[in-house]
Amino acid sequence: MRILVVEDEKKIAKALHDGLAAQGYEVAVAHTGEDGFFQLNEHTFDLVLLDLMLPGRDGYEVLATMRKRGMTTPVLILTARDAIEDRVLGLDSGADDYLVKPFAFPELLARIRVLLRRGKSEPATRLRLADLDMDVMARRATRNSHPLQLTAREFELLEYLLRHHGEVVSREMLARDVWQTPTRATPIDNVIDVHIARLRRKVDDPFERKLIHTVRGMGFVAREEAP
Ligand code: CA
Repeated sequence: MRILVVEDEKKIAKALHDGLAAQGYEVAVAHTGEDGFFQLNEHTFDLVLLDLMLPGRDGYEVLATMRKRGMTTPVLILTARDAIEDRVLGLDSGADDYLVKPFAFPELLARIRVLLRRGKSEPATRLRLADLDMDVMARRATRNSHPLQLTAREFELLEYLLRHHGEVVSREMLARDVWQTPTRATPIDNVIDVHIARLRRKVDDPFERKLIHTVRGMGFVAREEAP
Protein backbone atom coordinates (compact mmCIF):
# COMPACT_ATOMS: atom_id res chain seq x y z
CA MET A 1 0.00 0.00 0.00
CA ARG A 2 1.36 3.38 -0.99
CA ILE A 3 0.79 6.46 1.13
CA LEU A 4 1.62 10.04 0.21
CA VAL A 5 2.39 12.35 3.13
CA VAL A 6 2.00 16.05 2.32
CA GLU A 7 3.45 17.93 5.27
CA ASP A 8 5.73 20.96 5.32
CA GLU A 9 7.08 20.48 8.83
CA LYS A 10 10.08 18.31 8.09
CA LYS A 11 10.28 16.74 11.54
CA ILE A 12 6.64 15.65 11.47
CA ALA A 13 6.94 14.47 7.89
CA LYS A 14 9.96 12.37 8.77
CA ALA A 15 8.29 10.90 11.86
CA LEU A 16 5.25 9.96 9.75
CA HIS A 17 7.42 8.52 7.02
CA ASP A 18 9.48 6.39 9.41
CA GLY A 19 6.52 5.25 11.50
CA LEU A 20 4.45 4.23 8.49
CA ALA A 21 7.37 2.59 6.72
CA ALA A 22 7.97 0.52 9.86
CA GLN A 23 4.39 -0.73 9.47
CA GLY A 24 5.19 -1.93 5.96
CA TYR A 25 3.61 0.93 4.02
CA GLU A 26 5.44 2.41 1.11
CA VAL A 27 5.65 6.11 1.92
CA ALA A 28 6.37 9.13 -0.26
CA VAL A 29 6.74 12.62 1.24
CA ALA A 30 5.98 16.01 -0.26
CA HIS A 31 6.86 19.20 1.63
CA THR A 32 4.69 21.52 -0.44
CA GLY A 33 1.23 21.36 -1.98
CA GLU A 34 2.76 21.72 -5.46
CA ASP A 35 5.05 18.75 -4.95
CA GLY A 36 2.18 16.79 -3.46
CA PHE A 37 0.08 17.39 -6.51
CA PHE A 38 2.98 16.59 -8.81
CA GLN A 39 3.50 13.23 -7.09
CA LEU A 40 -0.23 12.46 -7.26
CA ASN A 41 -0.05 12.93 -11.00
CA GLU A 42 3.05 10.80 -11.37
CA HIS A 43 2.21 7.83 -9.16
CA THR A 44 -0.74 5.87 -7.85
CA PHE A 45 -1.37 6.13 -4.12
CA ASP A 46 -3.83 4.28 -1.92
CA LEU A 47 -4.08 7.08 0.62
CA VAL A 48 -3.02 10.69 1.12
CA LEU A 49 -2.18 12.22 4.51
CA LEU A 50 -2.67 15.90 3.91
CA ASP A 51 -1.63 18.77 6.15
CA LEU A 52 -3.86 21.80 5.64
CA MET A 53 -1.44 24.62 6.42
CA LEU A 54 1.13 24.44 3.64
CA PRO A 55 3.15 27.19 2.03
CA GLY A 56 1.90 28.09 -1.45
CA ARG A 57 -0.91 25.78 -2.49
CA ASP A 58 -2.52 24.79 0.81
CA GLY A 59 -4.16 21.50 1.68
CA TYR A 60 -7.64 22.69 0.71
CA GLU A 61 -6.45 23.62 -2.75
CA VAL A 62 -4.68 20.30 -3.26
CA LEU A 63 -7.78 18.44 -2.16
CA ALA A 64 -10.17 20.52 -4.26
CA THR A 65 -8.00 20.06 -7.36
CA MET A 66 -7.76 16.30 -6.77
CA ARG A 67 -11.51 15.92 -6.52
CA LYS A 68 -12.14 18.22 -9.48
CA ARG A 69 -9.93 15.97 -11.59
CA GLY A 70 -11.81 12.89 -10.47
CA MET A 71 -9.08 11.47 -8.23
CA THR A 72 -10.88 9.34 -5.68
CA THR A 73 -7.87 8.45 -3.53
CA PRO A 74 -8.91 8.60 0.14
CA VAL A 75 -7.61 11.70 1.93
CA LEU A 76 -6.99 11.92 5.67
CA ILE A 77 -6.46 15.49 6.80
CA LEU A 78 -3.95 16.28 9.52
CA THR A 79 -4.47 19.65 11.06
CA ALA A 80 -3.67 21.78 14.08
CA ARG A 81 -6.66 22.44 16.28
CA ASP A 82 -6.54 26.19 15.70
CA ALA A 83 -6.51 25.69 11.95
CA ILE A 84 -9.53 23.46 11.87
CA GLU A 85 -12.52 24.80 10.00
CA ASP A 86 -16.14 23.86 9.87
CA ARG A 87 -15.82 22.50 6.37
CA VAL A 88 -13.24 20.01 7.63
CA LEU A 89 -15.41 19.02 10.56
CA GLY A 90 -18.26 18.46 8.14
CA LEU A 91 -15.86 16.81 5.70
CA ASP A 92 -17.56 18.61 2.85
CA SER A 93 -14.12 19.59 1.64
CA GLY A 94 -13.80 16.22 -0.08
CA ALA A 95 -11.71 14.69 2.70
CA ASP A 96 -12.58 11.25 4.02
CA ASP A 97 -11.46 11.81 7.60
CA TYR A 98 -9.38 14.17 9.72
CA LEU A 99 -7.10 13.98 12.70
CA VAL A 100 -6.15 16.87 14.96
CA LYS A 101 -2.45 17.36 15.76
CA PRO A 102 -0.89 16.27 17.99
CA PHE A 103 -2.32 12.79 17.65
CA ALA A 104 -1.33 9.39 18.95
CA PHE A 105 0.32 7.29 16.28
CA PRO A 106 -1.83 4.17 16.95
CA GLU A 107 -4.89 6.35 16.36
CA LEU A 108 -3.51 7.41 13.00
CA LEU A 109 -2.81 3.79 12.07
CA ALA A 110 -6.35 2.77 12.99
CA ARG A 111 -7.84 5.54 10.81
CA ILE A 112 -5.56 4.60 7.93
CA ARG A 113 -6.62 0.97 8.11
CA VAL A 114 -10.30 1.94 8.01
CA LEU A 115 -9.81 4.15 4.96
CA LEU A 116 -7.75 1.57 3.13
CA ARG A 117 -10.32 -1.11 3.82
CA ARG A 118 -13.03 1.08 2.44
CA GLY A 119 -11.02 0.92 -0.77
CA LYS A 120 -12.56 3.93 -2.40
CA SER A 121 -9.92 4.26 -5.07
CA GLU A 122 -10.96 2.90 -8.43
CA PRO A 123 -8.70 0.22 -9.86
CA ALA A 124 -6.31 2.02 -12.16
CA THR A 125 -6.25 0.99 -15.79
CA ARG A 126 -2.78 2.42 -16.28
CA LEU A 127 -0.07 0.97 -14.07
CA ARG A 128 3.48 2.27 -13.89
CA LEU A 129 6.65 1.32 -12.10
CA ALA A 130 9.84 3.10 -13.10
CA ASP A 131 9.95 2.79 -16.92
CA LEU A 132 7.48 -0.11 -16.93
CA ASP A 133 4.07 0.92 -18.19
CA MET A 134 0.97 -1.27 -18.38
CA ASP A 135 -2.20 -0.34 -20.16
CA VAL A 136 -4.62 -2.84 -18.66
CA MET A 137 -7.48 -2.04 -21.02
CA ALA A 138 -5.38 -2.36 -24.15
CA ARG A 139 -3.48 -5.35 -22.70
CA ARG A 140 -0.20 -3.65 -23.55
CA ALA A 141 2.98 -3.52 -21.52
CA THR A 142 6.16 -1.62 -22.33
CA ARG A 143 9.51 -0.98 -20.70
CA ASN A 144 11.33 2.15 -21.68
CA SER A 145 8.73 2.30 -24.51
CA HIS A 146 9.75 -1.15 -25.87
CA PRO A 147 6.73 -3.46 -26.11
CA LEU A 148 6.92 -6.60 -23.96
CA GLN A 149 5.59 -9.78 -25.56
CA LEU A 150 3.69 -11.33 -22.67
CA THR A 151 1.33 -14.27 -22.62
CA ALA A 152 -2.11 -13.70 -21.10
CA ARG A 153 -0.99 -15.35 -17.84
CA GLU A 154 2.24 -13.36 -17.69
CA PHE A 155 0.28 -10.20 -18.23
CA GLU A 156 -2.08 -11.05 -15.36
CA LEU A 157 0.85 -11.92 -13.15
CA LEU A 158 2.63 -8.67 -13.89
CA GLU A 159 -0.59 -6.71 -13.41
CA TYR A 160 -1.07 -8.33 -10.00
CA LEU A 161 2.50 -7.56 -8.94
CA LEU A 162 2.13 -3.94 -10.02
CA ARG A 163 -1.21 -3.51 -8.29
CA HIS A 164 0.56 -4.66 -5.12
CA HIS A 165 3.84 -2.95 -5.85
CA GLY A 166 5.98 -2.43 -2.79
CA GLU A 167 4.14 -5.25 -1.02
CA VAL A 168 5.31 -8.82 -0.76
CA VAL A 169 3.05 -11.06 -2.81
CA SER A 170 3.06 -14.65 -1.57
CA ARG A 171 2.63 -17.77 -3.69
CA GLU A 172 -0.65 -18.32 -1.82
CA MET A 173 -1.92 -14.96 -3.06
CA LEU A 174 -0.87 -15.74 -6.62
CA ALA A 175 -2.45 -19.19 -6.50
CA ARG A 176 -5.70 -17.73 -5.21
CA ASP A 177 -5.96 -14.49 -7.19
CA VAL A 178 -4.12 -15.13 -10.45
CA TRP A 179 -4.52 -18.89 -10.93
CA GLN A 180 -7.78 -18.92 -8.99
CA THR A 181 -7.18 -22.28 -7.42
CA PRO A 182 -9.37 -22.35 -4.31
CA THR A 183 -6.91 -24.40 -2.29
CA ARG A 184 -3.34 -25.40 -2.80
CA ALA A 185 -4.23 -29.11 -2.55
CA THR A 186 -2.56 -29.42 -5.92
CA PRO A 187 0.62 -27.54 -5.29
CA ILE A 188 1.21 -25.07 -8.06
CA ASP A 189 4.27 -23.42 -6.55
CA ASN A 190 6.45 -24.80 -9.34
CA VAL A 191 4.07 -23.46 -11.97
CA ILE A 192 4.16 -20.05 -10.31
CA ASP A 193 7.95 -20.07 -10.11
CA VAL A 194 8.27 -21.01 -13.77
CA HIS A 195 5.97 -18.16 -14.78
CA ILE A 196 7.82 -15.69 -12.58
CA ALA A 197 11.11 -16.78 -14.15
CA ARG A 198 9.71 -16.30 -17.66
CA LEU A 199 8.26 -12.95 -16.74
CA ARG A 200 11.61 -11.79 -15.37
CA ARG A 201 13.37 -12.85 -18.54
CA LYS A 202 11.10 -10.54 -20.50
CA VAL A 203 10.64 -7.69 -18.06
CA ASP A 204 14.01 -7.49 -16.29
CA ASP A 205 16.76 -9.35 -18.15
CA PRO A 206 17.25 -6.85 -20.96
CA PHE A 207 17.30 -3.93 -18.54
CA GLU A 208 19.77 -2.78 -15.93
CA ARG A 209 17.15 -1.81 -13.38
CA LYS A 210 15.39 -4.88 -12.00
CA LEU A 211 11.76 -4.53 -10.96
CA ILE A 212 10.71 -8.03 -9.88
CA HIS A 213 12.45 -9.35 -6.78
CA THR A 214 12.30 -12.55 -4.76
CA VAL A 215 11.77 -12.21 -1.03
CA ARG A 216 13.24 -15.38 0.38
CA GLY A 217 10.73 -17.57 2.12
CA MET A 218 7.90 -15.11 1.49
CA GLY A 219 7.26 -14.52 -2.18
CA PHE A 220 7.87 -11.72 -4.65
CA VAL A 221 7.77 -7.97 -4.77
CA ALA A 222 7.64 -5.48 -7.61
CA ARG A 223 9.79 -2.59 -6.55
CA GLU A 224 12.11 -0.04 -8.03
CA GLU A 225 15.56 -0.41 -6.56
CA ALA A 226 18.65 1.61 -7.18
CA PRO A 227 20.78 -0.22 -9.78
CA1 CA B 1 1.92 22.76 8.11
